[in-house]
Amino acid sequence: MIEASFGAGVPGCMHGDGSPDGAKLVVRFTTPGEVPYQDSPFAFNVWVKGIELWDFKTRDDYLAALRELRPNIYKFGELIEDVTTHPATKRTVESHALNYDAANDPELADMYTATSIFTGERILRWNSMMQSSDDLITNMKIKRQNFRRTGSCTGAVCVGWNAQNVLWAVTQEMDEEFGTDYQQRLKNWILSAQSKGLAVTGALTDAKGDRSLKPSQQLDPDTNLRVVKVRDDGIVIHGAKVMIAGTAASQEIFLLPGGTYGEADQDYALACVVPRDIEGLTIVEATHPSDRRELEATADVEVPDTGVTQAYLLFEDVFVPKERVFMCKEYEYTAKFIQYFTANYRACIGACVSGQGDVMIGAAILMARANGLSTSTFMSKLVDMSTKNQTTYGLGIGACAMGTRHPSGSWFADPLTAHTNKVLVATLPYEVKRLAQEIGGGIVETGCMPSYKDFTNPEYGHLLQKYLKAGACSAESRFKAARLAEWLTVGAGIPGCMHGGGSPDGAKLVVRFTTPMEEYANYARKIMNIEEEVPEPQKRK
Ligand SMILES: Cc1cc2nc3c(=O)[nH]c(=O)nc-3n(C[C@H](O)[C@H](O)[C@H](O)COP(=O)(O)OP(=O)(O)OC[C@H]3O[C@@H](n4cnc5c(N)ncnc54)[C@H](O)[C@@H]3O)c2cc1C
Repeated sequence: MIEASFGAGVPGCMHGDGSPDGAKLVVRFTTPGEVPYQDSPFAFNVWVKGIELWDFKTRDDYLAALRELRPNIYKFGELIEDVTTHPATKRTVESHALNYDAANDPELADMYTATSIFTGERILRWNSMMQSSDDLITNMKIKRQNFRRTGSCTGAVCVGWNAQNVLWAVTQEMDEEFGTDYQQRLKNWILSAQSKGLAVTGALTDAKGDRSLKPSQQLDPDTNLRVVKVRDDGIVIHGAKVMIAGTAASQEIFLLPGGTYGEADQDYALACVVPRDIEGLTIVEATHPSDRRELEATADVEVPDTGVTQAYLLFEDVFVPKERVFMCKEYEYTAKFIQYFTANYRACIGACVSGQGDVMIGAAILMARANGLSTSTFMSKLVDMSTKNQTTYGLGIGACAMGTRHPSGSWFADPLTAHTNKVLVATLPYEVKRLAQEIGGGIVETGCMPSYKDFTNPEYGHLLQKYLKAGACSAESRFKAARLAEWLTVGAGIPGCMHGGGSPDGAKLVVRFTTPMEEYANYARKIMNIEEEVPEPQKRK
C-alpha cells in the first residue's frame, strides 16, 4: 500500500509534446505531491491515498522471512542464529535486500519488476519467466546495476532465476518424451515463488572428487549429490553441493545437475528446489581473503555494508517431496540442462564483471585523487578499464539478442557468443583489477596499510593519519577508498569470474564445437578460387 497521486491531461503544445494524438487522454502516476500537468488548462490532478498500485515484498518482508528460517548455517565454527544481523552474513543479505528496495522504488520498478506470464500480475523480476531477448537483456541490466550498488554478487536473485527458466524448457521436453508432469509441478512452484517474492539461489557444482572420474566411478559415491531412494511421495538425496553464491541470503535453493551424465550416473541426474532450512541440510559458509574484518568492531569503516558469500551444502538423507522434484534420473536430459543453463548464464555474467569493473574505475579515480593526482594522469588506463568492462557487457547483450526461443517459450542466448563471453569474463576483469591496483598504489595492491584500530589509536593514530594524508581529501577518505579497491581486487568482494559460472576451458570446448570451422575453410577456399578440396592430413600410424 502506498500513497500516490495521478494527473490526467490532454497532450499538446502545452506539454511540449507535439504529438498528432492531440486529443488522447493520458494519465501519469507521480510521487505524492508532484503536480503532473500543472501547465495545462485542460488538466486535472487528483491525489489518492492508500491506492494499491502494487504489492511487492519489501525489504522488511524479506528480512522477516529470512529470520523465520531454521538456523542451519555455520561460519568459523559458529552457528549463525540470525543471518540478517550476523556480521558474516548480514552484508550479502543487505545486497539482496537492495533488490527489494529497487522493486519498490518508482525509479527502478520497471527494471526490477515484470508481469507474470501466468497471472498477468506485476511480480518481482527475478521470479519471472524470460521469454524474449529483452527479458534476458533486462537480467543483464539488473546484474550491472546490482554490482554498481553493492560492489559484488547477488546469487539469490540470479542463479535460481535462470534455473526456473531453463527447467521450464527441459521439463517440457522430458514430459513430452516420458509422459511425466514435471512442468506442471514447476509451474505450481513458480506461482508460489511469485506470490511469496522469493530469493532463490542455484546449486550445480558438486564436491566432484577425482575430476578424471565420473560420479559413479568415485570411491565415495556421495561426492556428487545423488538420489538414494525414490518413494511414492518424493525422493531422498545425499551428498554435497559446494561454493553456492548467496546461500545465506536465499529462502530456497535449486539443486541442479552438475554435469552431463550417462546411464551409469543416472542417480546423479536430479533437479529439485528445497527450502534453505530443510531438515537434514547443514550449510557451511566459505571464508574469503580478509573476511575476518567483517567480524571486527571497525568493520563499518573497513568493509562495505554489502558483500558476497559462497556456501558448502551438506545433504544427509534429505527428503524432497515430489511436488518439488523436476528431474529424477532422466540422465538423457542433463546435457540439455547444462547447454541451456550455461548459454544464459555465460551471456549474463558479462554484466556482473562489467558492473564490478565500473566500481573499480570509480575506486581507482578516488585513489588517484586521494593520492593528489588528477584523473587525467591515468586516463589511458581508465579508458582501458572501461573498454574491457564494455566488451563483456556488450558481448553478453549480443548473445542475448542473437538467442532463440525454445518451444516452451524460454529464451536462450546464442551459445557461441555466450561461451566466447565466458572466456573473456575469465580474463579481462583481471586486467581491470590490475589497472585499479596500478593506479591506487601499494596501499591498494595488498591493502598495505595499518588497520583502522591503529589508524585511530590514541597514542600513534594521529601519526598514521598525518602520513596517510596525501591529496585534497582527508586521510580517512583515502583509507576507505584504498580498502574498497583492495576489497574489489584481492579481498572479500571478489565474486569469482574465473570459475564462477564454470571454468573457461569448458566454455572453450563449446566455442570449438559451435564454430563452423569447415564452413570457414570453404569461405577462404572460394575467395581464392581454390577448386580442389584441401583435406586434413591423414593420421600417421
Ligand atoms: C566465487 C564463486 C561463486 C560460485 N557460485 C556458484 C553458484 O552459485 N552455484 C554453483 O553451482 N556453483 C558456483 N560456483 C562453482 C563454480 O561453478 C565451479 O567453481 C566451476 O564449475 C569449476 O568447478 P571446480 O571449482 O570444481 O573446478 P575444477 O572442476 O576442479 O576445475 C579446475 C580446472 O580443471 C579443469 N578440469 C576439470 N575437470 C577436468 C577434466 N576431467 N579434464 C580436463 N580438465 C578438467 C577445469 O577446466 C579447470 O581449469 C562458484 C565458484 C566460485 C569461485
